[in-house]
Amino acid sequence: MGERLCMPAPMTTRNCREEKAGARPTNTKTGGRHEGRAPPRLFVTHPLDGPGRRLTVGEDMRHYLHHVLRRGPGDRVRLFNGRDGEWCARIDSLERRSLVLVLEDCLRAQRDDPAIDLWLAFAPVKRNANEWIIEKATELGVMRLVPVIVRRGETRRVNAQRWHAIAREAAEQCERLSLPEIAEPLVLDQLLAQWPQDRRLFAARERMAAPHLGECLVHDGLPAGGAGLLVGPEGGFTHEEHARMAEVEAESGVLSTVSLGARILRAETAALAGLALIAARLDCEIRSCEEGADQTQ
Ligand code: SAH
Repeated sequence: MGERLCMPAPMTTRNCREEKAGARPTNTKTGGRHEGRAPPRLFVTHPLDGPGRRLTVGEDMRHYLHHVLRRGPGDRVRLFNGRDGEWCARIDSLERRSLVLVLEDCLRAQRDDPAIDLWLAFAPVKRNANEWIIEKATELGVMRLVPVIVRRGETRRVNAQRWHAIAREAAEQCERLSLPEIAEPLVLDQLLAQWPQDRRLFAARERMAAPHLGECLVHDGLPAGGAGLLVGPEGGFTHEEHARMAEVEAESGVLSTVSLGARILRAETAALAGLALIAARLDCEIRSCEEGADQTQ
């Protein structure tokens, strides 16, 4: 994979994680009511730039922490903002419509998140299925979600705010340090025209005599520019769309048509199955890069 994935993390970063990982903070004031459980993990937009920094969060987070999770002054939370790593913070005070947190220690530096460089381009399906795709794609490490407008697409409506909220919750839960970007919808032609030349695009096309995605990943590996998966709508791609993809495949080495097996999967199953295969491959590459870096230290 690319150099970016193979860069060893600096020693300070590793020390930060190793020293702090075992030391789960407990609530001294409440006699450790939540003892033994990892503190809740929340995405914030504030800078997380040093111990002692006070952050005021709004009513929604106050409600969630205080009423839903029953946390109060003295309790700890973990915070991340996609830029400054992950921090342990203490709830300092509950105001009427806000809550004040104080940063304590850095638990993980941003560089410790081995972001797998994976994009998902998908034709939006029904509402619940879209939300499911976004949640699972975030858990599997997707960095960019691109809604693709195709002829037989179920909908052209993208509820970006709702999608962001789902991605944020999934990132909080799965311990990612960043949120995936949700791109503006693109018509299939635009997607193919704008696709970066150094990023491999696996186009999942049912009923084609194409190699299985798993096989392609084993035989061809992945380029340094990362990879993407394209999944079509419930009704499948049209002849014209298939023809356009075939043209791009013949003209450039960027697009590869792949099969996901003998069965015809629902669009959301196809997205999950394909992403799981690519993410597994990228995870293995990251791990072998990290092991290589450790041995050279
Ligand atoms: N209605 C279509 C199936 C669409 S499945 C038909 O009967 O032919 C929805 C999407 O999931 C497809 O566009 C494709 O991107 C993906 N998909 C489903 N099963 C697949 C398979 N076995 N191989 C590759 N892609 C598949």
